[in-house]
Amino acid sequence: MATIFVGDRLISAGQILPDGQDAVRVSRGRIEAVGRTAELIAGAPEASVSRFAGCSITPGLINSHVHLAGDCSTSSFTTLCSGAPDEVRAVIRRNARACLRAGCTTVRDLGDARGYVARFRDATADVDGVRPRILSAGSPLTISGGHCWYLGGIADTATEIRDAIDRAAETADLIKIMAGGGYVTSEGPTPFDAQYSTELLRVAVDHAAHYGLTVAAHAHGTEPIVRCIEAGVHTIEHCGWRSGPGKRDQNDWAVRQMAQQGSAAGDTTPAVWRKIAEHVTTPEYQYGGQLTWMAENDVTILVGTDSGVPGTAFDQLTLSMELYEELGFPRSSIIDMVTTGAAQTLGLGDETGDLRAGLAADLLIVTGNPLDDLGALHRPHRIVVRGTAYSQDELD
Ligand SMILES: [Zn+2]
Repeated sequence: MATIFVGDRLISAGQILPDGQDAVRVSRGRIEAVGRTAELIAGAPEASVSRFAGCSITPGLINSHVHLAGDCSTSSFTTLCSGAPDEVRAVIRRNARACLRAGCTTVRDLGDARGYVARFRDATADVDGVRPRILSAGSPLTISGGHCWYLGGIADTATEIRDAIDRAAETADLIKIMAGGGYVTSEGPTPFDAQYSTELLRVAVDHAAHYGLTVAAHAHGTEPIVRCIEAGVHTIEHCGWRSGPGKRDQNDWAVRQMAQQGSAAGDTTPAVWRKIAEHVTTPEYQYGGQLTWMAENDVTILVGTDSGVPGTAFDQLTLSMELYEELGFPRSSIIDMVTTGAAQTLGLGDETGDLRAGLAADLLIVTGNPLDDLGALHRPHRIVVRGTAYSQDELD
């Protein structure tokens, strides 16, 4: 039987839908119709009607960068790499529910090991319960001794990169490659260094394309970012444009090229950005300048939290979103960046991320109007996951 969810307003792509549209009719997990309550009831008199006075209905949020199998501790991937399967599954299940509580009905997982996240994605609800829609990259490709080598995705040569992608393509939704070094691997290249040549990154992009897969690349440093742009990588994660400790660059040629070819920046501003910005004054930790610069150059920005790595959490996407408000981004575009816009950039525009007949019924019902106060999204009143509505408590 259909259910009609009624709020005070509907928000799609960061805009209030016009003409008094205030209701979404849902049937068998999908949106059947969007419009005015009376019309939707007339079209399906047998439908049950759930009214939420004072609330807004938005698409479910999309967190574009998480690691469901990381436990956020200082040794965040230890359980994943050496724990018993039951322990790893428990970590993933707990994190997935935290994502849902925060209103994230879709997450893009950018790195685990041993195929755990893909199996969780595919498990039936009886086994692992309600969970967000998951895009899984599997083990990130990296060089020997490089960033996150212990996740099992080592590929040093063109042949090894193709072989790794051949294997990954059986279960992965996209390919992740560590184009530069990182912070959580003590040895190996620094975050500013490149790990792969432009040619090898291009091998990854071309070979992934054979399977219809996109490539997300980890790159903090300016050098690896520029190589990713030259290679046509689809999303550049972190994308901090750093050339050394305390240094941030702005390469205008590269950023224009990035925008022109449609490579997106996968921002991973931590939820605690405000605290960090208060205590650290080096440019390396001045969040935002690069985001404004990329946005002014028409680069598409995805919002993610890198949840799972040390010091992060899975239920705080909205705190990361507040940085954009502080930078002067309109609330409408911030909301679009975590809903409709993100779905389109991630290739999910025909499946989720909007209030449109035919899409999955992934919705948030929030108290108030997030276009007046982004905080309205922080603790959703109801989270509708493929048509079924849950309260926060039910997702604890
Ligand atoms: Zn990450």
